[in-house]
Amino acid sequence: MEERPPLGAHLSIAGGVWRAVERAVELGCSALQIFSQAPGRWQGPPIPEPAAERFREAAARAGLGRTSFAHAPYLINVAAPDNELWERSVALLKDQLDRARLLGLAGVVLHPGAHTGSGAGPGIRRAAEGIGRALEAAPEAPPVLVEVTAGQGTALGSRLEEIGALLELLPEDRVGICWDTAHLWGAGYDIAGEEGWETLWRELASRTGRSRPDLLHLNDTNVALGSRKDRHERIGHGVLGVATFARIVRDGRLATTPMVLETPKGSDGQSWDREALELLRRLASEPRGHTGDHGHAH
Ligand SMILES: [Zn+2]
Repeated sequence: MEERPPLGAHLSIAGGVWRAVERAVELGCSALQIFSQAPGRWQGPPIPEPAAERFREAAARAGLGRTSFAHAPYLINVAAPDNELWERSVALLKDQLDRARLLGLAGVVLHPGAHTGSGAGPGIRRAAEGIGRALEAAPEAPPVLVEVTAGQGTALGSRLEEIGALLELLPEDRVGICWDTAHLWGAGYDIAGEEGWETLWRELASRTGRSRPDLLHLNDTNVALGSRKDRHERIGHGVLGVATFARIVRDGRLATTPMVLETPKGSDGQSWDREALELLRRLASEPRGHTGDHGHAH
């Protein structure tokens, strides 16, 4: 059988960090993303070792041992010109790396930050310095996965050349790339079309030197192409559409790349994830090269 990408969702740790694994198992996930603390806070309570052990064991049993990730809090701005905000950001990122190591996660997803007026070049150098410092302080931690952003305001990372410039300043084995389908679209990459999808791959190689992303966020969206807006929609309920996600989950270059949903969950907190994962698993299991009848993307 051909290999298929591990598929999962961003899930809650409410009730204990290991509960996220239980939720993932209920949904049949083979990949998982969590916030390892409340994402709107500068400090989370430490994770006690027994809770971490319970997480690690449950994840290993569920086959999630190498496909579980954390998303860093949005408060972090490692590109901030302001020293106080920057120092706090670096400290929180370091704490995120420590938590990820404790939980045995495969990476920490990070937005590269906003330069808030200093300009893209200085912002990238600042971000590299901050990420580098956090990585140095957490030598055993998994890599930081820099996420492509929609480019709202002065946010960095909406162009692969910016991501490439940032990665170039950091140790190669300690940083990676996270693609988010909604962000790519908002940033102006027309991934709803075959041509735009291939352009993205060519840019990945030429701008970052990488052959594949390390993680994908699968989100549909209803914003306009290149609008620099960041809004996530359920798979098949946005302008990307089912055909786009069919192409992505069947792309042989991504056959081992974990993919997680960050889409609205519905009133019971899981039925929309369940529905989307069933759809994605079905799409992924169709033979490669199958054009399908998934309607038009736009
Ligand atoms: Zn994302």
